[in-house]
Amino acid sequence: MHDAGILKSHNTNGNGKPAKGTLPLVSKEPQKRTIVFVRDIPIGGKQAVVMAGPCSVETREQVNETALAVKRAGAVILRGGAYKPRTSPYEFQGLGVEGLKLLREAGDLAGMPVVTEVMSEEDVEVICDHADMLQIGARNMQNFALLKKVAKTGMPVLLKRGPSATVKEWLASAEYLLHGGNENVVLCERGIKTFDHSLRNTLDLASVALVKEMTHLPIIVDPSHATGKRSLISVCAKAGIAVGADGVIVEVHPRPEEAWSDGDQSLTLGMFADMMENLTGPMRAIFSPQEQFAVA
Ligand code: PEP
Ligand code: MN
Repeated sequence: MHDAGILKSHNTNGNGKPAKGTLPLVSKEPQKRTIVFVRDIPIGGKQAVVMAGPCSVETREQVNETALAVKRAGAVILRGGAYKPRTSPYEFQGLGVEGLKLLREAGDLAGMPVVTEVMSEEDVEVICDHADMLQIGARNMQNFALLKKVAKTGMPVLLKRGPSATVKEWLASAEYLLHGGNENVVLCERGIKTFDHSLRNTLDLASVALVKEMTHLPIIVDPSHATGKRSLISVCAKAGIAVGADGVIVEVHPRPEEAWSDGDQSLTLGMFADMMENLTGPMRAIFSPQEQFAVA
């Protein structure tokens, strides 16, 4: 249910603190949109932004090749994980600092700012030294100590929705960042757990529209993690933009079948270029009976 209480959040309960359950900073004047700048790239303005890159940084060649190709196709921010939150400890955990360096190098080569995930408080500093935007991954959305630490950096943050988090819990996590003094917050809907296991997750598109009613913060959609399925990425990216998202973040790999993580949901370089063309193409025309008469 739409939680109207969160919108009426400017009353205090007498002790100077916001009334219980309200989020005054994220819900303040939703119509006055916040634009978050990642270097010179505005997120939340008139134009939607596309962030793209590999799930994991693997090798110099892999990340450089991807960076140049996605930039050529129209992406404006390079993504790539150096610290990977993997379900199993036996899966590839990321290259760490070496991965940060390769990502930075690829971003510089292609002339793009870079976004990468920070999983732990102890890595915040080194990641700030290499990245332009910090991603707080879905699994860490309610890591409050990490949120407080990242807030202090003032760096742009990409705050993913937890797989089982309500919209209000997600916005409460954003409130932590704003309360900690960092207003450069971009939300990211990346699919949630539901009863339906046909796909990796369930892309909650209505939440994107709802979040835009509830907060002034920009929001983007991640169709890669939301679906887990390469063939659905392009249409779901388009749907995200159609419902009001300020951009999308998409996983891309030169050879997805060889990817060290999330290969099934990674687009090839060619598929990414096709997606970009599709995003700028017109929406499907709406059938109108009058027009039918006109052509008859
Ligand atoms: C990722 O971006 O590669 C990632 C692990 O995302 P999420 O936290 O949404 O699962
Ligand atoms: Mn991934």
